[in-house]
Amino acid sequence: MAEQFDVTIIGTGPGGYVCAIRCAQLGLKVAVVEKRASHGGTCLNIGCIPSKALLHASELYAETKHNFAKMGIVAEARVDFAKLMGFKQEAIDGNTKGIDFLFKKNKVTVFRGAGRIVGRGKVLVGEQPIETRNIVIATGSDVAKLKGIDIDEEQIVSSTGALALKKVPGHLVVIGAGVIGLELGSVYARLGAKVTVIEYLDRILPGMDLEVAKNFQRMLQKQGFSFKLASKVTAAAKAEGKVALAVEPAAGGAAEQVEADTVLVAVGRVPYTDGLGLDEAGVKRDAKGRVEVDDHFRTSAAGICAIGDVIRGPMLAHKAEDEGIALAEILAGQAGHVNYDVIPGVVYTAPEVAAVGKTEEELRAAGVEYRAGKFPFLANGRAKANQTTDGFVKVLADARTDRVLGVHIVGPMAGELIHEAAVLMEFGGSAEDLARTCHAHPTLSEAVKEAALAVAGRAIHS
Ligand SMILES: Cc1cc2nc3c(=O)[nH]c(=O)nc-3n(C[C@H](O)[C@H](O)[C@H](O)COP(=O)(O)OP(=O)(O)OC[C@H]3O[C@@H](n4cnc5c(N)ncnc54)[C@H](O)[C@@H]3O)c2cc1C
Repeated sequence: MAEQFDVTIIGTGPGGYVCAIRCAQLGLKVAVVEKRASHGGTCLNIGCIPSKALLHASELYAETKHNFAKMGIVAEARVDFAKLMGFKQEAIDGNTKGIDFLFKKNKVTVFRGAGRIVGRGKVLVGEQPIETRNIVIATGSDVAKLKGIDIDEEQIVSSTGALALKKVPGHLVVIGAGVIGLELGSVYARLGAKVTVIEYLDRILPGMDLEVAKNFQRMLQKQGFSFKLASKVTAAAKAEGKVALAVEPAAGGAAEQVEADTVLVAVGRVPYTDGLGLDEAGVKRDAKGRVEVDDHFRTSAAGICAIGDVIRGPMLAHKAEDEGIALAEILAGQAGHVNYDVIPGVVYTAPEVAAVGKTEEELRAAGVEYRAGKFPFLANGRAKANQTTDGFVKVLADARTDRVLGVHIVGPMAGELIHEAAVLMEFGGSAEDLARTCHAHPTLSEAVKEAALAVAGRAIHS
């Protein structure tokens, strides 16, 4: 006799595990199905958490090497690479074990293995049948491949292989100047690799504010990054421990050869639905392979919903989590909702880049009249004291109503600072609301306040 559940969630990444916990909090009987050995999905096992552990450790190493002496601290830094990877593994284990604990605490039943939908309200995990009122697809995403380049996870790696290299490469070539490529490129640049980034577009960080991206590129160049923009990699040949890449102008033209010790393919991610039985279950996908959902996360098949990387929208852990919560509340008869206009995005480099809301390019394209207020960290007392003055805050507000439509930051702690803008925007706040909020001195947050003041041309310190 199959066990009966209110909700069965396939995949325990940030979307699935958060949805499970919220469903349980709301009194639903919940099962989760996970084929990976540990919970937490891409994010905890091969994404957000291991990359941030390596970014943290390598940033401290770079600080010790380059900035300690000028502060009067005498220290010698050396990298024990195996131990550094052990530090990363501890971060993974600590976080994934936390989910085991949360599942137990919330009485979530765990099924280990690949789940397949075999009918309305029916999921099969190996030979084990599960009966359930609702099915949630939370199977996430996988690495996007590049034609002509075979990933072997040794010399030619995806982000997964880049998080588990055996040594620091002499020359790391990163294909793709998006968030993942620049974060992992930063890790190895700090540890001593020469890093070259090859990008098809004529800019880095596609989708982020262009002014921020241009400034950030210059900062990375100062850190030793080389960029080949408007260029495409068309072939990779491995010989004698090296990889020879054929690189052409994006618009076409003569190819040049770039030799690398390791190549990181970071050209994006694609939704993952292999083996789920979606066609048989009548679950439609769009042209990009994403599961189609309506505003309530319902798919084209009754009783089946989907959340996270496997559906439309930014592939971000916090977006998946918020969808998990909203869906749990909808399934429990409440009014769950995600505000897609206020989803922050962060690049965890040094300095960090963070954004929420619309970019200047998006506002211009939509014909929205806006005013921009900008404030440089060079004029912020705390940043000056810390000698971390690279970057700025930019606040974009509606020219008529003063409502804040977007905030873009490149600079120290940008990934933390962005949340005061997110909270403001969630409440529909204006630049003046932000500018009139008392900010503690001396803090980096004062730069956010000053940028809000600058919207009305009245920043004090610049
Ligand atoms: C290197 C890297 C760094 C990243 N850094 C960040 C970051 O800093 N911040 C951020 O917000 N996002 C980051 N991301 C993106 C983030 O990891 C994803 O957006 C997030 O994990 C998506 O969550 P999800 O629950 O939709 O899917 P996933 O986390 O992909 O989880 C899906 C789970 O489903 C399981 N599964 C799939 N099919 C089946 C099946 N048939 N049966 C059982 N189980 C199945 C998989 O094993 C997996 O565990 C990063 C990604 C990468 C690769």
